[in-house]
Amino acid sequence: MRELRYNPLTGQWIMVSSERAKRRWRPQGYCPFCPGAEETGYGWDALVLPNRFAVLSREAEPVMGGDILRRAQAYGDCGVIVETPEHNVKDLDELSLDHVVKVLKLWQQVTAKEMSDRRIVYLAIFRNKGEEVGVSLTHPHGQYYAMPFFPLRPRLMADNARKYYRRFGRCAFCDIVRKELEDKERVVYSNGGFVAFLPYYASWPFELHIYPLRHVQYITELSDEELKYMADALRASLGALNALFSRQMPYTFNLFQAPLKGRWPFLHMHLEIYPLLRDRDKLKYAAGIEMSTWDFTYDSVPEENAGLLRSACESVKPRLGLLGTCGAGPGII
Ligand SMILES: [Zn+2]
Ligand SMILES: [Zn+2]
Repeated sequence: MRELRYNPLTGQWIMVSSERAKRRWRPQGYCPFCPGAEETGYGWDALVLPNRFAVLSREAEPVMGGDILRRAQAYGDCGVIVETPEHNVKDLDELSLDHVVKVLKLWQQVTAKEMSDRRIVYLAIFRNKGEEVGVSLTHPHGQYYAMPFFPLRPRLMADNARKYYRRFGRCAFCDIVRKELEDKERVVYSNGGFVAFLPYYASWPFELHIYPLRHVQYITELSDEELKYMADALRASLGALNALFSRQMPYTFNLFQAPLKGRWPFLHMHLEIYPLLRDRDKLKYAAGIEMSTWDFTYDSVPEENAGLLRSACESVKPRLGLLGTCGAGPGII
């Protein structure tokens, strides 16, 4: 059984699927993403695989609507992006700059492919890392969901950005980036094309947002040089997060692009990383207030945490051979 169910109170679509329950949980002694596995073959640096237990599928059976309790066809696509043939790589910062560029090129390919399907409205490219976020396969990989609807949170961002654009005639995201670069104190990394900062309004203790300095809606609009800067900013950000507590940081990240249909001149592509630790062995839980009202408490000072991440960035800079500056580089604005 596979269908979308609508929550008329929140405006949210729930992706219901019994396929997912068939997933093997942390299979022992076999990795479906290693070279030579059933679907992977040999001779690749990074590759896209179909998700065998997809919650959305182009083959999903059509279903009827309904009144207050509506449902819809779970049309769409889910895939896995295997980022390296090396099983034991712990995170993307351990891959070379050129290699991370190859991964981002796959993100571009997936975006272009899903754009050509007129029924796909939104694409989420995301990555979960760590047992704490329920990762069942440790081989480095990201995922994507191509959805037939515009999900709630990005829709909320779009509504607010549209209002801002109508009122001031400017992109809200560009204004945020400019202000963060002026303030400097929350900027963790910057290079010739991208900036990473712990946002003024962060929800998670070490949340990082990575933005292209150029106003673009899709990763497919980035030049090869910009893609290199994006890979560099991603390596710097993840490197800093993994150095912060001298242990691998569990996190989830998502690439926010504009919906794949329509014109969205007021949206600005960016990546948001939500790290789960607030201290070396303390998890920040999304619990009572976060789960029920979606409001967050922030239990420290964002500017101080950004400072800790900048120091962590400095400590990994030589190893990673970063192209930019830990902090707001001179002449970035
Ligand atoms: Zn593997
Ligand atoms: Zn912008």
